[in-house]
Amino acid sequence: MPIDATAPYDDANIFAKILRGEIPCNKVFEDDYALAFHDINPQAPVHVLVIPKGRYVSWDDFSAKAEDRKISGFVRAVGRVAADLGLPAPGYRLLANVGGHGHQEVPHLHVHIFGGRPLGPMLAR
Ligand code: 5GP
Repeated sequence: MPIDATAPYDDANIFAKILRGEIPCNKVFEDDYALAFHDINPQAPVHVLVIPKGRYVSWDDFSAKAEDRKISGFVRAVGRVAADLGLPAPGYRLLANVGGHGHQEVPHLHVHIFGGRPLGPMLAR
């Protein structure tokens, strides 16, 4: 079920539990600003999620409220993960779903990194 991205942050969401180490993830990268791990239900040969270390529901919430250093740290982490995965040369896709129309299901900001094959048009028609 898509979430309401304008709702308050829910500390019980699954990515908050992953950040607190309460449930495991298949980690690919971590620094002061971000944690990256493989999606549990991959939609492409490479499907990694990058999440900020902070209580942000969505891109909307994060871009409005996070300090500049947290935004730059997170954006750089996304780029670093894609580079570490060897994706810049063949190409890849970033996706951040927001709220109902965006079909966001987990209420903690996450950027999807998809790659490993030609990904086709941007949206299903
Ligand atoms: P959204 O639709 O919110 O943009 O994407 C949520 C993503 O989180 C989905 O691709 C889903 O497969 C992934 N996901 C949901 N629960 C878990 C989990 O417990 N672990 C991992 N690694 N991924 C999850």
